Amino acid sequence: MIAKKLKLGNFPTKIERLEKLSTMLKEHIFIKRDDQTGTEISGNKIRKLEYSINEAINNDCDTLITCGGIQSNHARATAAAGIKLGLKSILVLKSDDKPEVEGNYLLDRIMGADVRIISSEDYKNKRQEIMEEIVEELKEKGRKGYIIPEGASNGIGTFGYVNCFNEILEQEKELGITFDTIVATVGSGGTFAGLYLGNKITGSNKKIVGINITDTAEIFKDRVCSILEEAKTYIPHKDFEITKEDMCIIDGYVGDGYAISRAEELEFICDFAEAEGIILDPVYTGKAMRGLYSELKKGTFSDSNNILFIHTGGLFGLFSKKGQFGF
Ligand SMILES: *Cc1c(COP(=O)(O)O)cnc(C)c1O
Repeated sequence: MIAKKLKLGNFPTKIERLEKLSTMLKEHIFIKRDDQTGTEISGNKIRKLEYSINEAINNDCDTLITCGGIQSNHARATAAAGIKLGLKSILVLKSDDKPEVEGNYLLDRIMGADVRIISSEDYKNKRQEIMEEIVEELKEKGRKGYIIPEGASNGIGTFGYVNCFNEILEQEKELGITFDTIVATVGSGGTFAGLYLGNKITGSNKKIVGINITDTAEIFKDRVCSILEEAKTYIPHKDFEITKEDMCIIDGYVGDGYAISRAEELEFICDFAEAEGIILDPVYTGKAMRGLYSELKKGTFSDSNNILFIHTGGLFGLFSKKGQFGF
């Protein structure tokens, strides 16, 4: 078994220097624009979906089944990528109230995705079961479903970020810059796992830093281990060690919880946009960049020369927060 992929996103994504932030903090901080991997498919999920959907097609599946929050970037990217490849999508989305038709959910509906809304309790306890029932439901109609777990963060999906890691190594040569520290948001773990794995496989010795925006660092270290155990089955010829001890995931920036924004977090998004002309999202990159900023001020990365933050996307999710900005 080897990990193969489709070509869906616009790669390589640009790397830009964050001028104001670098000057202010007396550091060299760069950003990789994975928010620009596409429009309908924009963000980090498309890198993982290039692998997952390839596997779906190779298994003769005709329908992608996945899950996420009501404003899931991953679900929206899955629906869009599916359409381009002639696959149907069924999106199992979490919402306890009747959802506002806006942001990513509006795009899901515009694209005609089959959306199934479930409660947060069902989402937590039995989303896998619900998706498996959908596979059965399809089977009765002579169709074949392929389940992509939350965020496509499984063994196959994580190769999207192994690939991104290799892309960064290529860009380092072109730019004449070595990034000793790479920072990314941790939401379901696949992005961090892929970067960690890429670093291991290539023996690059970079510092891979995750900032979690839900749950805890400890929970994610375990999740990353299980994603990587599964990933290992695709590369049996590679020998490397996975240990929680060398995983750096920084806790402390979840705030009031997943997808919940506090005033200071939205203010940070505004300050950053005013300084750099780059829009972060409220659920993931806004909190993670705020985390990186605070950690830099504390001196956490004082031995890093060039720091690369990966902008993993999420712009559409910002629109559902419009009422909270106080404009
Ligand atoms: C899903 C997502 C993340 C988190 O990536 P994981 O691989 O799920 O950890 C970060 N940023 C955005 C915008 C996302 O949609």
